[in-house]
Amino acid sequence: MQRTFPWLRSIARVIIFLASCALLGFYTDQLLLTLLLGAFGLLAWHYWRLYRLNYWLWHSKKISPPGVRGIWSHIYQGIYSANVRNREKRKALGEVIRRFRQGSEALPDAAIVVDRDAEIIWCNRLARIELGLSWPEDMGQKVYERINDKQFNTFYHAKRFEQPLEVTSPINPNKVLEFRVVPYEDENLMVIIRDVTRLTQIEKMRKNFVANVSHELKTPLTVINGYLEMLPENGDMPEAMMKKAISEMRSQSVRMQSLIEELLVLSRIEASTERAFEKLVNVPQLLWQIQVEADALNREKNHKIFFDISPILYVYGIESELRSAFSNLIFNAINYTPNGGVIEVKWTLEGKQVKFSVKDNGYGIASEHIDRLTERFYRVDKARSRTTGGSGLGLSIVKHVLSHHNSLLNIQSKLGKGSTFSCRFSPEQTYIVEQPLSH
Ligand code: ADP
Repeated sequence: MQRTFPWLRSIARVIIFLASCALLGFYTDQLLLTLLLGAFGLLAWHYWRLYRLNYWLWHSKKISPPGVRGIWSHIYQGIYSANVRNREKRKALGEVIRRFRQGSEALPDAAIVVDRDAEIIWCNRLARIELGLSWPEDMGQKVYERINDKQFNTFYHAKRFEQPLEVTSPINPNKVLEFRVVPYEDENLMVIIRDVTRLTQIEKMRKNFVANVSHELKTPLTVINGYLEMLPENGDMPEAMMKKAISEMRSQSVRMQSLIEELLVLSRIEASTERAFEKLVNVPQLLWQIQVEADALNREKNHKIFFDISPILYVYGIESELRSAFSNLIFNAINYTPNGGVIEVKWTLEGKQVKFSVKDNGYGIASEHIDRLTERFYRVDKARSRTTGGSGLGLSIVKHVLSHHNSLLNIQSKLGKGSTFSCRFSPEQTYIVEQPLSH
C-alpha cells in the first residue's frame, strides 16, 4: 500500500510545467498570457480530477479506484484503503451483533431493551411471543404502550425496580408473567419477562386436586365395594349375577385406571418446567401417528374420518403435550359422535396463522355447557361419558397444553348437529419447512 507521497517530485513537475510555459511565453513575447493559460490549464485539470473523484464517491458502483497517476492516485488510494478498513470493521461489528442476537434468542426468558425515553430498542423472539410484540414494527414504540397493562404502566413510571412485578399476561388471561427491570449504562433498561404461571398455580392446584380426586375415585370404589359385599362368604352366587358383578367391577376398575392415567398426564403438564418454545415439533408426523390410533378406535364406530394435514407446518412447542391435546380432541370426536358419523381433522394455514381443527357431526353440546367444558371433571352427560371411559379431564388437559403454547381452545357446537374444536398458533411460533418428510 502506498503511504508516503513524493511531494518534491510532484512540486518539481509543477515547476517544470510552469517554467516551460514561461519559456514559451518568453519566445512568443506573451509571457503573462502563456503563464496564465498554463496555470488555468493546471487548475482545470485538477477540477476535472475533483469532478471524477466526486463521481466515484457518490455515483460510481465501482469499489476499486480508477487508474490515475500522481497526487490523485495517492488520494484515491487513501480513500479506498479507509473504505476497506471501515468495511472490515463493519463486518466484524455485524458478526458481534449477530452472535449477540443468537445468544439472546436462546435466552430462556423474554427480554426487551429500552432506552431512557422508554422506547423499545430491541426485543427477542420470546418477547414477541409472550407479549405480542412485532419486530421491527415496534422498534421506537413506548414500552408501556405496547405492553399495555395498567399495573406495568404504574410500575414502570414509579421506577422502583428493586422488586419484580407479577401480573396476568396482557395477551393470555391464563398466564401470570413476572417483569423484572434491570437498569444499565446510559439509563437504558433491560426488561426481563418470565412465565411464572406454574408457580402461582401450584398452591391452588394442590388444594383442588385432593378434593376432586377423592370425589372421582369414590364412585367406582363404592360400586366395587357394593358388589364385593353382595358376594357371599363361600363365593356361592348364581352364575348370571356373578357375571354381572365381575363385568361391573371390571369396568369400574378400568375407569379408575384411566382416571389415574389422565390425572398423571395433567399433573405432569402442570408441573413441567420444560420451556414451551425451544424445540420444533414435527406436527404433521405427530398427527399421522394419531391417525393410526384413531383408525383403531374407530373400528367399532365406523365413522368416516378425513385428515387434511399440511406436511410443511411445524410448531415450536412440547411434542408430548401437543400429542395429548390433539389426540384428546380427535378421540372425543370419535367418542361423542353416533356410529357412522363424519369427522374432519385439519392442520392448515389460515392467513398467517396455523390452525388445528376437529369437526364432527355428533351429539353436539348445548350452549350453556360450552364455557365449563374445560373445567376439571366437567362432563355434559355423565352416563355417556362413563360408557366412553371418559374422566372429564381431557379438555382440561387440552386447555392447559394450549395455554402453555399461548393458544386458546375454541369450541363451536350445536346440540344434535355436531361440534368443532379448534386452536391457532401465531406465525412467530410456527415454522414452514421447505422439504417436508413424506407421509
Ligand atoms: P371426557 O373424558 O368425559 O371425554 P373431556 O374433558 O374430554 O372429558 O370432555 C368433557 C365433556 O365435553 C365430555 O364429557 C363430553 O360431554 C363433552 N365433549 C367433549 N368433546 C365432545 C364432542 N366432540 N362432541 C360432543 N361433546 C363433547
